[in-house]
Amino acid sequence: MQLSETIKLYMTKEQKNLIVMAMNGYISTVNSLVSVATNGTSISKYTTADVDAALPSALTNQCIRDARSIVNKYNKDCRKVSAKNKKLAKQKSAVTIKEPAIPVLKRPCCYINNQNFKIKDNYIDFPVLIDGKSKRISVRTSMTDRQKMIFANAKLGTMRIVCKGNKIVAQVVYEAAELQYSDDGNVMGVDLGIKCPAVSYCSDGSVKFYGNGRRNKYMRRHYKYLRKKLQKAKKPAAVIKINNKEQRIMKDIDHKLSHDIVATAAAHNVSVIKMEQLQNIRSTTRTSRKNNHSLHTWPFYRLAQYIEYKAKLAGIQVEYVNPAYTSQRCPICGNIHHANDRNYTCKCGFHTHRDLLGARNICNSTEYVGNRHTA
Ligand SMILES: [Zn+2]
Repeated sequence: MQLSETIKLYMTKEQKNLIVMAMNGYISTVNSLVSVATNGTSISKYTTADVDAALPSALTNQCIRDARSIVNKYNKDCRKVSAKNKKLAKQKSAVTIKEPAIPVLKRPCCYINNQNFKIKDNYIDFPVLIDGKSKRISVRTSMTDRQKMIFANAKLGTMRIVCKGNKIVAQVVYEAAELQYSDDGNVMGVDLGIKCPAVSYCSDGSVKFYGNGRRNKYMRRHYKYLRKKLQKAKKPAAVIKINNKEQRIMKDIDHKLSHDIVATAAAHNVSVIKMEQLQNIRSTTRTSRKNNHSLHTWPFYRLAQYIEYKAKLAGIQVEYVNPAYTSQRCPICGNIHHANDRNYTCKCGFHTHRDLLGARNICNSTEYVGNRHTA
């Protein structure tokens, strides 16, 4: 699985100028190659000799590769649109779909493949153009110990130098090792919710609650209030800033929740984590309590995805089950009825905490709906 790590760069003034020049040169070269190709001249056999760019040849090569893949995707989109338009014309429809716009890179960036950059101690080496000649510079970084471990052991992919906010950072892609799946472990059901963000029930009988639903709710309300206030004051830039901040906080919460869930699973020798298939919620009206909160299905989706990729890295499989009746079915006798308040009590004598029932039923469920979210 490909993941990426972001590294801060501590450039000297001179290095910053060189890097900004490389980034601007990179996007203008890619853009002009794309424009050549979309004007009917094939660039499929282009080499660095065909391209007049103020870049080291390693970067020019990467520009050619990038331009080719951009053009291929653009051509594919054009073919799709013209096929659709032909179909519409046949149906004598008055509607036609607009041709896709020729893609243009706007944000300065540059991509350097793994042959051309080196990570050493706290430095990254890569080529830039100095006085018309390709020369390597060594930029100081602040890598965490975890990042150093990753870069020392993983197979590295492309490095992207991009602007993030008003800072220039490097993003290094690497191949993350996935552990081998085993089948002889425990099964864990994970139920995601609003009041209680996540509950896990493991087939060894252990139960765990994660997160603080009340605090999350308070925070959402707080940000909603701020947004309204800023909207009234006609400060759209501040609204965007507040939105981004809220998104960052919610993402951090999901990262922490998913980390804790997968760590608990690993500690309990779990080989399969089961969750509800969230996309089915819309079609299963009145069978899932989460249906009352359709607006909140997106955060569930992100959390489920985080759990899925962290589980994958830990060698734990993730499977999705049918969400129908998971919070209503008695796990002992199979009777279906609603819980009263916080407690679920069945005629057969079984009783449990309401939030626990879902996780337990998900753990026991064999109504698989694929092992992947289908968008
Ligand atoms: Zn029962």
